[in-house]
Amino acid sequence: MKAGAAEALSAGEHQGAERALDVERVREDFPILKQKVHGKPLVYLDNAATSQKPVTVIEAEERFYREYNSNIHRGVHQLSERATKAYEDARVKIQHFLNAGEAREIVFVRGTTEAINLVAAAYGRKNVQAGDEILITAMEHHSNIVPWQILCEEKGARLRVAPVNDRGEMIFEEFEKLLNSRTRLVSVTHVSNVLGTINPVREIVEAAHRMNVPVLVDGAQAAPHLKVDVRELDCDLYAMSSHKIFGPTGIGVLYGKARLLEAMPPYQGGGDMISSVSFEKTIYNVIPYKFEAGTPNIAATIGLGAAIDYINQLGLDNVAAYEHELLEYATEALSGIPGVRMVGTARQKASVISFVLDGIHAHDVGTVLDQEGIAVRTGHHCAQPLMERFQVPATARASLAFYNTKEEVDRLVAGIEKVKHIFG
Ligand SMILES: *Cc1c(COP(=O)(O)O)cnc(C)c1O
Repeated sequence: MKAGAAEALSAGEHQGAERALDVERVREDFPILKQKVHGKPLVYLDNAATSQKPVTVIEAEERFYREYNSNIHRGVHQLSERATKAYEDARVKIQHFLNAGEAREIVFVRGTTEAINLVAAAYGRKNVQAGDEILITAMEHHSNIVPWQILCEEKGARLRVAPVNDRGEMIFEEFEKLLNSRTRLVSVTHVSNVLGTINPVREIVEAAHRMNVPVLVDGAQAAPHLKVDVRELDCDLYAMSSHKIFGPTGIGVLYGKARLLEAMPPYQGGGDMISSVSFEKTIYNVIPYKFEAGTPNIAATIGLGAAIDYINQLGLDNVAAYEHELLEYATEALSGIPGVRMVGTARQKASVISFVLDGIHAHDVGTVLDQEGIAVRTGHHCAQPLMERFQVPATARASLAFYNTKEEVDRLVAGIEKVKHIFG
């Protein structure tokens, strides 16, 4: 590791949890942050859409293509063996990152979206019938709504939705009421990409398991910010995307308990997912390969492994502590601006701040901020039903990462003042 994420932890402190993050040093690891946009230093606050990549990730991908590009699991030659080892090492890194019991419980997919579609297709095909129900919440990303709608339409099943309160928290009693003997799966987001709400996944899983219902967790927004422990959560399935945890695009993870994955039929057919093929009968490969048909994004998988190494060196506890401080600072600063209304004020929140400005469309907010070099997301954030719940057409969203600073938050505040001046 070149820039040495470990060294970014301030010297003089010894115990992991006590070491604070040295954000200026961390920023050195992210070349993209050094540029100017419209003549102003870039302030990147769109981390919930995708995160930036440390140089170690960029170099891991490049090294693969420069030095040992080859296909995995097939060749006996040296390059193929190196590629296979790096690919499978990444699987073990993810296993430890999520604290899964076994590496074969980690399936590589394209991202959270594909992970959820895989479960809807494979688990759904076998276990969901007419009259059955799938239970989600009102704060889901479209990726955790539409695959279930497709399944429900095909099967004559029904999608049930647990409501959220005005703070943007799922109403637990309503969720429990919706759980019943027809429920075949609960699928909930760990952290809302719009509201920042952290859902009580452990309690959700307990309630579902009392009814013998498995739980899939959409972890796209949780994995970059919280220590995820799938065994402690006891969730049955967990989905995440590499590109939101500082890794490359085009790769993601579905964790599943081995028994459940083994019982699921394959998702796609092709090479690598079989152990033998004849026109009479094809024998499927063991998990996780049963779900990994075709040549995967090998370079990105290796890059994901490098991203995990990077996060581990920073320490997710340090990241969470720093981000919490930054979130509080930003929440206070933004709520103090007259005309700003926060959307999502849950008591348990991660680094996402959605807001609307009185009488000004979110897109205008985003456009003016862009002129100031500030990247925020505006729109419905792939969660249109949630926008309806809060009766807003769109919000502006600033989402923080550990490389953001209080000075950047101050720039955002100044930018919002400018928006108000222009449109107010
Ligand atoms: C980004 C996101 C997704 C989709 O992830 P992809 O990487 O685009 O597949 C799903 N759920 C949540 C909560 C997200 O933030």
